[in-house]
This record gives sequence, structure tokens and C-alpha cells, in this order.
Amino acid sequence: MTESNGVLTVVGIGPGHDDHVTPAALRAIQTADVVVGYSTYIKLVEHLLDGKTVIRTGMTEEIARAKAAVEEARTQRVALISSGDAGVYGTASLVFQVLRDGGWKAGDLPSIEIVPGMTALNSTASLVGAPLGHDFAAISLSDLLTPWPVIARRIEAAAGADFVIGLYNPASGRRTRQIVEAQEIISRHRGADTPVALVKSAYRKRQQVVVSTLGELLNHEIGMLTTVLVGSSQTYLFEGYMVTPRGYDNKYTPQGVAKPGQTPGRSLVLKHEGSFGDKSHQKV
Ligand code: SAH
Repeated sequence: MTESNGVLTVVGIGPGHDDHVTPAALRAIQTADVVVGYSTYIKLVEHLLDGKTVIRTGMTEEIARAKAAVEEARTQRVALISSGDAGVYGTASLVFQVLRDGGWKAGDLPSIEIVPGMTALNSTASLVGAPLGHDFAAISLSDLLTPWPVIARRIEAAAGADFVIGLYNPASGRRTRQIVEAQEIISRHRGADTPVALVKSAYRKRQQVVVSTLGELLNHEIGMLTTVLVGSSQTYLFEGYMVTPRGYDNKYTPQGVAKPGQTPGRSLVLKHEGSFGDKSHQKV
């Protein structure tokens, strides 16, 4: 193998289908001697693991997993895999916690590489239309590591500021109260007819996509493989799709003319004339 040892690559594998594993993530897995991950994610890439040492662990063993990955990576090439993006509620930050606790310094082995992946917000949004067309906030409803009052304050703030809200970890077998409270908080700021999407297991075998409303949200099945997307006051339904406009609708006619009382924006292309589109500035 030409690649050097002593490398820990933290890899996001996307929502769960090969089509959404990036070439960089694939390469990181293929060139690894050891692959470490939660057993469900290991299963998703099982066909890539021939001849490799595989360390699969349960869901609650996250810190042990990160520690094992760091330990093994002192002498070998290790890929630590997460679903979606490894930096979004994933193992990347745990790796740094383990390194910090162990007194690791820049330049020490293992060296660290992080390979981005498609997070659940992107994959689930793509299945329902264009719900993230304007500002959005991601909030995890898991209060295992974050006190509920902190989470509730963030939901309140995001709802009050009219963000589209993506709720990760909305519920699990035992954790069912949080989504009820979240719905209640958001409903103080938004109408019952606000579009909502519930996407379970995006791009996996048991994928389920439901487009509903804030008022009806709790009448649907919500579990630990679901991401809930709550529209802003601007989000609308169109032929079964959930769409959040960029905002132009309020300001411009469909022909691009500013509506009465609106000041047209200045074109960036004009402002950057001489650099945008000017071939003399392009690297060949
Ligand atoms: N690192 C992951 C998030 C891990 S937290 C990422 O970037 O996507 C786990 C939560 O992510 C789940 O409770 C669910 O809300 C969401 N999630 C992850 N994969 C998903 C998928 N394929 N479909 C729907 N939601 C998903």
C-alpha cells in the first residue's frame, strides 16, 4: 500500500446508499487497514470491507469507538465511519475530545483527516422538494448529552426568528416527550398549516417520506431514523413538493422587475465586471 500509516480518517458515508458516498469517502474506506463504526453503519458499507479488520460497536459505545480508532491509528490506516456527515452530531468531535484528553499535539500520530459527507438535512430535503431554500437551523432533540432547557431555548429562538428547522434525533423508543414539546413551542410562532416533512431512512431500504403540516405532525410515526423538517412562514406546498422560496417572490415579478415599492438589487455580475467571466483571470 502506498499510503502512509498512522492516519485516522473520519468519514461521513452519507445517508446510506452507495450513490451518495463521495469518491473521497470511498477511497478512505478502501485504503484503510481498519474500519471502525457503529454496527448499523458498518452494515451499509459491508461490501467494501473484504480483508480489513473491522471494529463494530453498539450505539452507546461512541467514546470507546473513538478511543479504539485513535489507538489503532497510531500504527495503521484507520477509517472511523459515521452516517451523514461525521462532523454533524457525529464522531468527529469525539475524536478531538479523545485526542485532547490524551495530550495529543499537532504533528503527533495519528494524523487526522476528515472527509465530509451528505448530512441528513440534505438527503431528506432532496426527497421532498426544496425546503431549505432559505435560512435554516438544525436542532437535535436528544437530551442525553444536552439539557432539555437548552434545547427548548434553541427551538424557541429558531422558531421566533422564522428559520426553517431541521430536527435530528426527534424521538426514540423511550424518548417521545421532546417532539411533543418541540411541536408546542414552534406552534406558538407558526400556523397549524405550516408545511412539515417527516423523512425516515432516506436512501435506505425502509425509506418513508411524509409531507404534512405542523398541526398534524404528531399523528405520524416518528422514530430515531426520522428527520423532521419544519417550514418557515414562507414555505409552501406545490404539487406535493415542499418549497421555501429564496425570497424573490415578495420583491420581484416573474419577469424580474421590482414590484411597486421595492428597490431592485444591484447585479453582482455588473459589480464584478472584469473579473467574473473574464478569461484572463481564469486559471487554465
Ligand atoms: N451524522 C449524521 C447525524 C447523526 S444523528 C448526519 O450528518 O446525518 C442521527 C439522526 O440523524 C437521526 O435521528 C435522524 O434524525 C438523522 N438521520 C441520519 N440518517 C438519516 C437518514 N438516512 N434518513 C433520515 N434521517 C437520518
